Amino acid sequence: MLAQSKPIFQGKTRNVVLIVADGLRWQEIFTGADPTLLNDKDGGIWANPEELKRKFWRGDVSERRKVLFPFLWGTVAEHGQLLGNQTKDSVARVTNGQAFSYPGYNEMLTGRGDPRIDSNEFGPNPNRTVFEWLNGQPEFHGNVAVYGTWGIFKNIFNEPRSELVMQTGWDPPYHGKLTERQELVNELYRTTTKLDDEDTWDSFLQIPMLDYVRENHPRVLFVGYGETDNWAHSGRYDLVLESAHAFDGFVSQLWKMMQSLPAYRESTTFIITTDHGRGGGPVEWKEHGVDQKGSENIWIAVIGPDTPPLGERTQVPSVTQSQIAATIAALLGKDYTHEVPAAAGPLSIVLAGPPPGAAPWMGRH
Ligand SMILES: [Zn+2]
Repeated sequence: MLAQSKPIFQGKTRNVVLIVADGLRWQEIFTGADPTLLNDKDGGIWANPEELKRKFWRGDVSERRKVLFPFLWGTVAEHGQLLGNQTKDSVARVTNGQAFSYPGYNEMLTGRGDPRIDSNEFGPNPNRTVFEWLNGQPEFHGNVAVYGTWGIFKNIFNEPRSELVMQTGWDPPYHGKLTERQELVNELYRTTTKLDDEDTWDSFLQIPMLDYVRENHPRVLFVGYGETDNWAHSGRYDLVLESAHAFDGFVSQLWKMMQSLPAYRESTTFIITTDHGRGGGPVEWKEHGVDQKGSENIWIAVIGPDTPPLGERTQVPSVTQSQIAATIAALLGKDYTHEVPAAAGPLSIVLAGPPPGAAPWMGRH
């Protein structure tokens, strides 16, 4: 056979989880709570400012970000890598030129921006995601799943065409003969007041997602959390911080559970990121897009057996959201850019090094 039958990358990863916190800024990830927004005037907080500060404010930036994201700045910083701290010459950005959700998810999942996708109401994605591509391969078929709070993921992943396992939005998650606990969760899906008709609460997603992983052992999993974006649009910086902190806890919970299962232990890589940045300053932090300067800037964290434990990366070449698709494939030994030549190459910076003499993709993006 030809060279393309050789794996692009041979590592220890057998399972990949892509986790996204919608619209969570790199500024909070790397510098913690923003002191100019811990108030009612600009941050729109309902919480007691002193209590909010006790929870999330620390004078030292390393302590401040760690109190907000204990998993990212404990486990991931120790065993993985974090990219995107612009104060330390590490830049991660989107290339789709739009900096809102559907274009961002499309870019990270298909390896390139698509100018046709100019609205969250675009409809079914004409592009095949790396998830759909992997699901079409016998070794992964039926073991690729999408759990996301946002109903639009049905379109982004093109549910009817991709035939992925999908749990999204406010669809009650359990079917068939139910336990009491499952019935209770379904009832909450049906009866809880919605902040957004298309986006369920992060905590409501976490329960069926963990159940699914425990029982079905998917090899490729997408988990999309939406609250960080919704609370920012609502102008509630206190709830941005609370939901960001809860998101970190959800990722930690999933990581610990998976490490306790033989199917996943020491063979699972997490890629954790966001779909877009947001504006800065006293007003523009609430919104994102071409009008809010800086919305193209994101962050990417990776932890797994093939990622050198270099922690927070500084003074490294820029990386892009479009590289995520090929990185997922490469971790599983697959060459996505062979399938989709227009896609960006993998993030070589988080891979432990290519097999000797087989690195045409190094630095390509
Ligand atoms: Zn948004």
